[in-house]
Amino acid sequence: MKTRYLRYSLLTVILGLVIYQALGYGSRSFEAFCPFGGMESLWGLFREGQFTCALGPLNLSMLVGVLILALIAKKAFCGWACPIGFLSELLGKFGGIVWNKRPVINPKVNGWLKLLRYVVLVLVLYFTYNIGDLIFRGFDPFYVIFSGFGHETLGWITWLTMAVLIIGSFFIPMFFCRYLCPMGATFDPVSRIGLIKIVRNEKLCTECGGCLEACPYDIDPQQMIKVRHRDCTNCFECVDACPEDGTLEIKATL
Ligand code: SF4
Ligand code: SF4
Repeated sequence: MKTRYLRYSLLTVILGLVIYQALGYGSRSFEAFCPFGGMESLWGLFREGQFTCALGPLNLSMLVGVLILALIAKKAFCGWACPIGFLSELLGKFGGIVWNKRPVINPKVNGWLKLLRYVVLVLVLYFTYNIGDLIFRGFDPFYVIFSGFGHETLGWITWLTMAVLIIGSFFIPMFFCRYLCPMGATFDPVSRIGLIKIVRNEKLCTECGGCLEACPYDIDPQQMIKVRHRDCTNCFECVDACPEDGTLEIKATL
């Protein structure tokens, strides 16, 4: 619980800062802080030497920073910094309270659905690179929420998209992050080799399943010695949930 308080405090500060920027008080647009903006700009930079649309050097710096962080601590950005991940997690928690026990999605179906984020990544980059504009803003929860359904949203299509994301998060924790986030897909390969990870002590583990139940991504540390899973955000929910002290530890290891 202590880790969660620390994590939620940090996420609340970051969410507050993004809202501050979105309300126009900061010196930059809130979009300037999106690491995926760096990905969306790569082709324009390579071909024409300029950033796409409203994006700029800060987006590229954020992308590089997030990739370096993934090398060190897997998807810690998603669990400790991303405001959309935070809002998804809160919705999932709310769903868990309403449904008492959250539905467990079949692991095979879960695995197949996760491939959707690669489809989203390819589609977004293909059209953004070809058209040279951020045409997916109307489907992007980061833009839609913090622009307050801004000028590039798509009316009922955007409302429907947001309704699907909200209802999905209510039933399946981290619905958008698991299945649809193109930024998550971007740093999946780097996350797999991230140095800081959860390590399980087999001798102490009673195989009670508490860690699986606590994991917002349905990762099952009980089946592993080292959690190398690409989705692991190092949120440490599993560590906090484990009733056997010292069974799950946070270590820097390959
Ligand atoms: S919660 Fe702890 S004791 Fe229970 S299965 Fe997971 S690692 Fe083992
Ligand atoms: S395995 Fe543990 S640290 Fe990784 S995402 Fe799941 S709960 Fe968080």
